[in-house]
Amino acid sequence: MIKINEKIINLDRKDTFHNVSSEVNKYIKNNPTKKVLSLGVGDVSKPIIKPIIDAMKSAVDELSKSETFKGYGNSHGYNFLKEKIIEVEYKDFNFSVDEVYISAGSKMDVTNILELFDISSSICITSPTYPIYKDGASCLNREVQLLKSDDKNNFIPEIPNKKFDIIYICSPNNPTGIAYSNEELKKWVDYAKKNGSVILYDNVYSSYIRSKGIPKSIYEVEGAFDVAIEFRSFSKDASFTGVRCSYYIIPNGVYKGINEIWKRRNINRFNGADYIAQRGAEESLSNESQKLLVENVDYYLENARLLRESFLKCSFKVWGGIDAPYLWIKTKNMTSWETFYFFLEELNIVIIPGIVFGEEGDNYFRVSSFGNRETIKTAIERIEKYCEKSI
Ligand code: PLP
Repeated sequence: MIKINEKIINLDRKDTFHNVSSEVNKYIKNNPTKKVLSLGVGDVSKPIIKPIIDAMKSAVDELSKSETFKGYGNSHGYNFLKEKIIEVEYKDFNFSVDEVYISAGSKMDVTNILELFDISSSICITSPTYPIYKDGASCLNREVQLLKSDDKNNFIPEIPNKKFDIIYICSPNNPTGIAYSNEELKKWVDYAKKNGSVILYDNVYSSYIRSKGIPKSIYEVEGAFDVAIEFRSFSKDASFTGVRCSYYIIPNGVYKGINEIWKRRNINRFNGADYIAQRGAEESLSNESQKLLVENVDYYLENARLLRESFLKCSFKVWGGIDAPYLWIKTKNMTSWETFYFFLEELNIVIIPGIVFGEEGDNYFRVSSFGNRETIKTAIERIEKYCEKSI
């Protein structure tokens, strides 16, 4: 009989987002009159802004006429979008279009990039973190080691005293909401330089950074051009979670000829991101759209501020929610699944149990600020009412 990839068969099925959704759906089915509010999802609630919709509509029109029809594009993305990204997002860095890749979502990009490195490469992941790094690596038959962190080090792990070839860093972090400062990142860049390692820098929440001293890109850190690959997405600011468009930068400094090598891989494994999405993404970088998108992100950050205040008022310990759309909250004498069921059953609010992001997350839970204001305010009322009674 055919053998199936055991790594996929053995993927965790218990402590997953999928399992959280199943439990929520089960509860809703059994309690149809309850109004369940979600502070769980990592999906945005704001619709796509009009200028982007108009740009995508024009792109659709182009596809309807033989003179302007587009078929297969460049596997690595259209230059009109790469040039716009360089101009708007990386204007101080002098990247060439050959170092920029357009893709269809960072979720696949952060894992696919492992194909660039030898199978023997050791990989470390700062944990708790976005679970896809570990599970995605596993699907590609790569093992990862976890660098654990906790509230004593503000969820930023110590620099390891052994060598790893590949280091995943997510900043601003999902789920902790912590963003690395320039000094903290510099330590990792120096470590990578010393050990000949590469940093895979997941920066999909860069547009949420508001604090001074937090770099919007790892390339603001001296030396990062030689060691870091940065991933970004249009999902969380331009509301492209359904449209699908992302990009990443592989600086030429990381390895001689790296971009020629990766393009060889890319043309065999990817036929390029959607043309309509790329036109929409281009528009998202125009001055007019940027202003509107900053307003959207500010709206989520205001939600985060309201949630943060409320949880603090209820004497929870809270991290994040300042430069990120997530709050990471310590449970009160319960495991993270117990906390999940408590919130669901007593308050009819969905939160994400911290264990979904790694074992050391079991004393925490994640709250998302991506909901609309009404949902956030109603959730806050329920939480505070409960706290008044019992805390
Ligand atoms: N990286 C992190 C840290 C995320 O939280 C997410 C989505 O939640 C992604 C990547 C995936 O983004 P995309 O929608 O571009 O696939």
